[in-house]
Amino acid sequence: MRVLGIEGTAWCASAALYDAEADSVLIESDPYEPDSGGIHPREAAEHMSEAIPEVVDAVLTAAEAEYGPDAIDAVAFSRGPGLGPCLRTVGTAARSLAGALDVPLVGVNHMVAHLEIGRHRSGLENPVCLNASGANAHLLAYHDGRYRVLGETMDAGVGNAIDKFTRHVGWDHPGGPKVETAARRYAEENGDPEDLLDLPYVVKGMDFSFSGISSAANDAYDDGVPVEAICFSLQEHVFAMLTEVSERALSLTGADELVLGGGVAQNDRLRGMLTTMCAARGADFHSPEPRFLGDNAGMIAVLGAKMARAGETMPVPESAVDPNFRPDQVPVTWRAGDVP
Ligand code: ATP
Repeated sequence: MRVLGIEGTAWCASAALYDAEADSVLIESDPYEPDSGGIHPREAAEHMSEAIPEVVDAVLTAAEAEYGPDAIDAVAFSRGPGLGPCLRTVGTAARSLAGALDVPLVGVNHMVAHLEIGRHRSGLENPVCLNASGANAHLLAYHDGRYRVLGETMDAGVGNAIDKFTRHVGWDHPGGPKVETAARRYAEENGDPEDLLDLPYVVKGMDFSFSGISSAANDAYDDGVPVEAICFSLQEHVFAMLTEVSERALSLTGADELVLGGGVAQNDRLRGMLTTMCAARGADFHSPEPRFLGDNAGMIAVLGAKMARAGETMPVPESAVDPNFRPDQVPVTWRAGDVP
């Protein structure tokens, strides 16, 4: 089976071809880069309507050159969660393509795709998953036909919280990689300092909160604390919160596998903390390669193929997008027989 995947929940217009037999993924992406500040929803939607046809055309051209006119067996698209105007552009493109190619349509939950690509690439059977992305942060585990949300952010997504601080100091979007560079430089220059700034560390049960730490980091900057010292402490606090709840999720479920997904998963310090925690528990840890971490259509195409095989295709009248689509709304039929 070969699936054309289309992703466009917020900033990244992306198309991919997944060849399930070869387990190969071709991805073409065109990110929206704001001139200033963070993601402006209207500009992101305009970008999506210009860029989606181009990335789809590039992937279709490559697919037809390789496999001929019947290259595509199904079209999968990100139904949500995300920005409504962006999702509607992607939904319209996917419906028209499925109709023109006369193939089934598959509506994919973007957050489940962040999880499943890690499971697929690692071969781990039944991991707990930490999704650390721009607009979200949550722990998921499979139970009785669904991915259950064990813990989640009570306010901002983890990447958005970091980006809020970098906007305050005047850095370009996205801020996460710049905070990582500044924090690493600070650690190298100060011999892995143990003294941290006093920032809010908010874990309540299995949930976390990031909005207070963004504001406190902004205040520290306004008070003249060097920006690299703030970046270091910000990362240490935020990633320790994620690691603490991940460990609790492993303990709660008895699982011995953890998969990390989402754009923030590109951060070496976060991966390092999770690697150390998992090693101490004797658990396996995996995070896919960078092209599958930030928003990308590869993960949509891969999960789309699993869903299509399980018969999870949808008629056009039922394919409306859902900006608030939660992962635990999705019946996980493609794993039947896979794990208990
Ligand atoms: P979602 O997937 O929840 O809809 P999104 O589309 O905004 O959210 P992603 O594409 O998964 O998110 O990730 C983008 C986020 O990843 C941005 O907030 C960006 O700052 C962050 N990010 C990217 N690289 C790094 C890094 N090296 N360290 C920390 N954060 C990073």
